[in-house]
Amino acid sequence: MAIETPDKTAALPIMSHWINGKAVEVLPENTGPITNPATGKVFGRVPRGGVAEVDQAVEAAKAAFPAWRDMPLIARSNIFFAFRGLMYEHREELARLITRDHGKTFPDALGEVLRAIETIDFACALPFHLSGMMSPNVSTKVDAFTLRAPLGVVAAITPFNFPVMVPAWIYPIALMCGNTVVFKPSSHTPGATQLQAELWTRAGGPDGTFNIVYGGREAVRAIVEHKDVRAIQFVGSTAVGRYVYEEGTKRGKRVGSFTSAKNAMLVLPDADMDLAADAAVASGYGSAGERCMAQTMLIAVGDTGERLKPKIMERIARLKIGDGMEPGTDMGPIYTAEHRESVVKWIDTGEAEGAELLVDGRTFKGPNPDGFFLGVTLFDHVTPAMKIYQEEIFGPVLSIVYANTFDEGLKLINDHKYANGTAVFTTNGGAARRFKMEVEVPMIGVNVPIPVPVGYMAFSGAKDSSFGDLAMRGEDGVRFFTQQKLVTERWPEPGTQGPLSLVFPGNS
Ligand code: NAD
Repeated sequence: MAIETPDKTAALPIMSHWINGKAVEVLPENTGPITNPATGKVFGRVPRGGVAEVDQAVEAAKAAFPAWRDMPLIARSNIFFAFRGLMYEHREELARLITRDHGKTFPDALGEVLRAIETIDFACALPFHLSGMMSPNVSTKVDAFTLRAPLGVVAAITPFNFPVMVPAWIYPIALMCGNTVVFKPSSHTPGATQLQAELWTRAGGPDGTFNIVYGGREAVRAIVEHKDVRAIQFVGSTAVGRYVYEEGTKRGKRVGSFTSAKNAMLVLPDADMDLAADAAVASGYGSAGERCMAQTMLIAVGDTGERLKPKIMERIARLKIGDGMEPGTDMGPIYTAEHRESVVKWIDTGEAEGAELLVDGRTFKGPNPDGFFLGVTLFDHVTPAMKIYQEEIFGPVLSIVYANTFDEGLKLINDHKYANGTAVFTTNGGAARRFKMEVEVPMIGVNVPIPVPVGYMAFSGAKDSSFGDLAMRGEDGVRFFTQQKLVTERWPEPGTQGPLSLVFPGNS
C-alpha cells in the first residue's frame, strides 16, 4: 500500500499564470515545487497548467489581436522602447532570479539578460522591419506591393537553461510583427519569466498580448493541438522538439524547433594554445555545461591534444565551484538533483566505454551538501563509437577527441547527427576559410568558443538540432511570424475600361 507523505512545501508562495495582463490565482494542488539548486531548498510553487489554462490564454490573446495588429507602428514601437528601458533597469533583479532558479553565476546571468535585450533592440525598429516592397506601374495604372501581416495567436515554448534570453529570442519578434503570444516557459526557472510579463504590462503592452501558462507535457500538448494557435517556436530537447514540430505541422501550424546539440571545437596545431585552452574550459564548463552552444568536444589535430592537456588541467585546478551568488564563483550547481544524477550516469558510461578519465567531477563536494553540485569532468581519448561522443550530456563534461588531420577533424564534425554550433582555433586564415565554407554546422566561431550570433542576427541549427525551414530571430524571425501578402492594384479612370477579354493579362 502506498504511504501518503504530506507535501510540506504546499504552503509556500505560489506563482501565477499570467493571462490578460494579470496574475491568475492557482490552487496549491495544481502546483509543483521550485527549488534553489545551490541550497536544495524548495522556496515556492509553480502552477501546473493544462488545457483549461491554455484555452484561457488563447482566448485572451485572440481578443487582444485585432487592436494590437491595427496599432500604428510607431505606437507599437514606443512600447518596445519602454519595455527595453524597463528590462535594462531591472537587469540585476532578473539576473538574481535566474541565479536563484537555475544556479548559474550572477555575472553569467547578467550577461544573459544583456544578450536578451539585443533582440528587444531589434524589435524597437519594427517599422523598418515590417516595411514591404513597392513596385509601381507594373502594368498600365497597376501597382504591386507586399505586406507583412501578423498570423494571429502564436506560441513560444522554451527550456530551463536561459530563462530570459531564449524567450526573448521569440516573443519580442512575434509581438513586434503584430501577433499576440501564449508563452509556455520551463517550470524549473519561472522567476525571471514572470517579471518579463510584468514589465511588458508596465511598458504599456496591452492586456492579452503576452500571456504565460506554466506547465509541462499537458500544457504543451494543449498548445500544439489548439486550433487557434497559428505558429509555434520551440526551444529544448530534440525528442520534444520533434514531437512539437511533427504534431504542429500536421495540424497546419507553422513550427520551428531548435533543439539539442553536441558542439565541437577543432584546434589546429598552429592555434594559440592559451587561447584554445581558455576557450575549451570557458565553453565546456561555463553555466555548468548547460548551454546549447557549449563546445563539449575538443577535436585536437596532430599534437595539439598533448600540448593542450596540461594547460586545460592547470585551468581546471583554479576553477571555483559554488553558489552562483557568491562573488568569484566560476561555476554553479546543476539545475536539479535529477539532472545531476543523469550527468553522473554519463560519466559512469564514459568510464565503462573506455574513455580516459583525467578529471572526475563525481568526487567534488560542494559548499552546501544539500545543493546539486558536481565538479567538472575531463575525458581523454573519446572516440566516435562511444555514447558520450554521440549524445548530448548537458553538464560540465569536456571530451578530448583526436584527429590526424584537418580533414579528419572536419569529417568528424560533419558526420555528427547534431549541428548547432562549432568553432575552429587557428592562426591560418586559409584553414579558417575552408572550415567556414565546408563545415555543415550553421553557427561558426573562428577563435570564438561560444558563437551565439548577436541578437539582431538569426539563430539557427541543422540536422537533429533544428526542425523547420526558418531560423529564429532576425529577418527570418520576421518571416516566420508574418504572412506575406502580395497586392496588385489598379485604379482605372472612370470610363477607360477596355472590352471584356478572357486572355491572361500581360503586363503592358
Ligand atoms: P526540454 O525539452 O525538457 O523542455 C523544453 C520545453 O518542453 C519546456 O518548456 C518543457 O516544459 C517542455 N517539455 C518537457 N518535456 C516535455 C514532454 N515530454 N512533452 C511536452 N513538453 C515537454 O528541454 P530542457 O531540459 O528544458 O532544456 C535543455 C535542452 O534544450 C537541451 O537539449 C539543449 O540543447 C536544448 N536547447 C537548445 C537550444 C537551441 O537553440 N538549439 C537552446 C537552449 C537549449
